[in-house]
Amino acid sequence: MKILIIGVNGFIGNALTEKILKNTNWEVYGMDLSDNRLEQSLKDSRFHFLEGDVAINKEWIEYHVKKCDVVLPLVAIATPISYVREPLRVFELDFEENLKIVRACVRYGKRVIFPSTSEVYGMCQDKEFSEDTSPLVYGPISMQRWIYACSKQLMDRVIWAYGVQKNLRFTLIRPFNWIGPKLDSLTTPKEGSSRVVTQFISNLVNGKPIQLVNGGHQKRAFTYLDDGIDCLMKIIKNENNVCDKQIFNIGNPHNECSVKELAKKLRDLYSKHPLKAQKKASPIQTVNEKSYYGQGYEDIAYRMPSIKKAKTLLGWTPKVDLDTSLQKTLDYFLKEFHSK
Ligand code: UDP
Repeated sequence: MKILIIGVNGFIGNALTEKILKNTNWEVYGMDLSDNRLEQSLKDSRFHFLEGDVAINKEWIEYHVKKCDVVLPLVAIATPISYVREPLRVFELDFEENLKIVRACVRYGKRVIFPSTSEVYGMCQDKEFSEDTSPLVYGPISMQRWIYACSKQLMDRVIWAYGVQKNLRFTLIRPFNWIGPKLDSLTTPKEGSSRVVTQFISNLVNGKPIQLVNGGHQKRAFTYLDDGIDCLMKIIKNENNVCDKQIFNIGNPHNECSVKELAKKLRDLYSKHPLKAQKKASPIQTVNEKSYYGQGYEDIAYRMPSIKKAKTLLGWTPKVDLDTSLQKTLDYFLKEFHSK
């Protein structure tokens, strides 16, 4: 099988490529702006990489959509501060550029696996969010945060419609706060430009205060990368075509934790870690959402996946508990920090 991954150097793309090369005989064709996370994969003759830009290298994309069996367009901006500060870039990249790739899949009759997001559920009031029944609830237009969820939701709807009207074979995946090695970079300069786990690790390493937005009562269910990738592998394999025209939440409901608990857990793990860089543990402070992210930010109180569909149709269950997930993520970043 030939797999096309656009955004192959990203958090999901690079881990997925490594797994494919290790466990299958498939070929991977990948494109990204850089290759710094692909060191291992680049050594493999079944990995074909182009350093390129989705907005520029259109002919390469068209040619490879035609050539491959399954397409994963993983290029996206997915950090909340960008939704507030650069909403147009989020729309242009996450929706407009990706739509062109989806249309190429329609043209050439190729299967597409598209990353929707757990953010599409927004401020949904269901206890757990279900792919086919939960409402998708957003705030007013002036709250720019919702442009990401809206762009992704619209793409879900467009892909669904292509499935209905043009028989596009698709699967939509909704990752719930995946964490693990290579999530973000600890050296990203701006506060808030990393996801919460990497932001907190960066604060600990640099001896800066950990900031709890609105006191950190909001909850997330964190999913270890390896579990997520296992699920994605089953989706790519698609035995008996069970994934066609389906949406899957990929999350770990057992790993729910408030942001405040998360800060304490990471601070504890860090203070016991042999590779800690700071003797004194960072203080934990509360900060207002508008001063941290800007006026267009509104938070999501909780985000709990129902994973019944992935369990039933794919026989998948996540295995890595929260403490292990945090420990492994911290180990990776501290090793990386010390090697530089
Ligand atoms: N958050 C926080 N302090 C930080 C960074 C994030 O309290 O330094 C909060 C943020 O407001 C959100 C949660 O942590 O409620 C998760 O943020 P993340 O950036 O991982 O993305 P989200 O899950 O909201 O998409």
